[in-house]
Amino acid sequence: MRALILSDIHANIDALDAVLEAAPQHDVVWNLGDVVGYNAAPEDVIERSREIGTMFVRGNHDRACAGLTGADNFNPVAYRAVQWTRGQLGADALAWLKEMPAGPIMPAGTLVSCVHGSLLDEDEYLLSTEDAEGQFERTRTPITFFGHTHVQGGFAANDAGEWFQMKPVYSDDKIVESYDLDLRNSAKYLINPGAVGQPRDHDWRAAFALYDDAAARVTFFRVPYDVQAAQMRIHRAGLPEMLAARLCVGR
Ligand code: ZN
Repeated sequence: MRALILSDIHANIDALDAVLEAAPQHDVVWNLGDVVGYNAAPEDVIERSREIGTMFVRGNHDRACAGLTGADNFNPVAYRAVQWTRGQLGADALAWLKEMPAGPIMPAGTLVSCVHGSLLDEDEYLLSTEDAEGQFERTRTPITFFGHTHVQGGFAANDAGEWFQMKPVYSDDKIVESYDLDLRNSAKYLINPGAVGQPRDHDWRAAFALYDDAAARVTFFRVPYDVQAAQMRIHRAGLPEMLAARLCVGR
């Protein structure tokens, strides 16, 4: 089984379409949440995401844009994007967002957990090995896929329970690149495919991953996309300029 793993698309249709064009053959799509928020094509991204897969974990922006919780704890720029997104969504898209299940979710027939933030809290950021360590006792599956930080890579624990940070190594930021992670049987993993629609790891290219359970491998990908088109949409929508500027620097 080969799963295409997407996270944090954040209403960026230009990035999503580039990812889908570059994605290798796969059987299922697992979506780790934050389908909307920040960028300016929420309806298009929801429609495309629903076309390609059925496994979704809710993100904090999905929850806020659906109106299930307020966005008072969001920074002013994110708050503005939530308000704008709410005004853009039709009844069908809104109803779908509201129904999105919170993680963790174990896709049928797998030994994998899918979450947005962490195993305990969809709003928690797993940024350091200390954060990862705290997850250790909670994970009943050897592999957890998470998003929320918009940083591709994640963490691995050896037999002694020591956690290490993983970061794919790439050489060129203008082309499609991939990086293979061969999974060891006895190790535990917290793996982040990176953000499709708003990377924050200093690489502007859209990020995603492919999980092949038979080959025991996760492959990370980076894909260039039409950033200017995404920026134009943000400008036209009247969303904060900062949301456009950050896309081309990947922060
Ligand atoms: Zn996000």
